[in-house]
Parts: sequence; structure tokens; C-alpha cells
Amino acid sequence: MIKEVTVTGEQATREYGEKIGSLLEGGEIIELVGDVGAGKTTFVKGLAKGLGIDEAVQSPSFTISRVYDGRDGLRLAHYDFYRLDTAGIMADELREMIQDSATVTVIEWAEIVEGVLSKERLTIQFETPTEETRKLILFGDRKLLEKL
Ligand code: ADP
Ligand code: MG
Repeated sequence: MIKEVTVTGEQATREYGEKIGSLLEGGEIIELVGDVGAGKTTFVKGLAKGLGIDEAVQSPSFTISRVYDGRDGLRLAHYDFYRLDTAGIMADELREMIQDSATVTVIEWAEIVEGVLSKERLTIQFETPTEETRKLILFGDRKLLEKL
């Protein structure tokens, strides 16, 4: 099952993220694939809102990970492995996060932690047809895709 969505403007990407965030129940793993500037972090800002997180989400590209508390005892663990060549101890942290049923784990540049991720994850590929338009291709986690 594959789903494709085209959004125009940063706000529309946030809103789509918010919609997905509002449907999450905890335990989900979402991998975001796409070039720098494709809109991955923008999407996470909306997703966080849908998880009831008021705090401003910042890109974790320097800190590698950021964790936020949301609605219903859920938390968002947001990773960005762009700057790392090897995940090291971060792979262990990630392994714990994805095993926690109250945590929603979202990962940008997940290649180096591929081995840690379960197959039951939603992958969202971001394409950039124009400066303002983003095409999102969603596949993987069937249970979650059916809710969208
Ligand atoms: P990434 O995390 O993939 O590197 P960011 O979300 O940090 O990307 O940045 C996306 C950039 O693209 C921002 O500067 C944003 O304003 C711009 N942009 C333009 N149109 C869109 C869109 N439809 N969705 C998301 N970002 C967009
Ligand atoms: Mg980013």
C-alpha cells in the first residue's frame, strides 16, 4: 500500500503532519526520507502539534535527538542522523525509544540506524517538484496507512 499526497506551501505540510500526529497512538516509527530542505522537519513541527505538543520543535541536527511530551502520556522522540557517520551510543538510545509503546519515534537520515529499525515503520519520502510544492510518498506501516 502506497499513498501519495501533494502539498503546496510550508503551512500545508505542517497541517498534513498535524493530521498524522493526531492519529498516532504510540509505538509508531516514522522514517522521513528526502534532501536537505525537502520539508522533513517542517512536517515534524505539524506532527508534534497533532501530538498535543505546544513546545516549538527545533531541528535536532546538532543535538541528534530531541524528546517532547505530548497528549495522553505520549512522547515524541525526534532524531536527525545527518551529521553522524556512525550511530554509536545513539543507536542504543534509539533502540530503547522504539520499544516504548508510549513513544512516537520520527527519524531523519535513518540510513546509519537502518539495522535498529523494525520493518513495521511508516516511511515518508519527500520530493520537491517545485520550490513551494512537496510530494509525499508514504509506504510501510499498513495499520497506520489505513487510518490516513
Ligand atoms: P528538511 O528537514 O527536510 O531539511 P526543512 O523542513 O527544515 O527541511 O525545510 C524546508 C524548507 O522548504 C523551509 O525553508 C520551508 O520554508 C521550505 N518550503 C517551501 N515549501 C514547502 C512545503 N510545501 N513544505 C515544506 N517546506 C517548504
Ligand atoms: Mg531536518
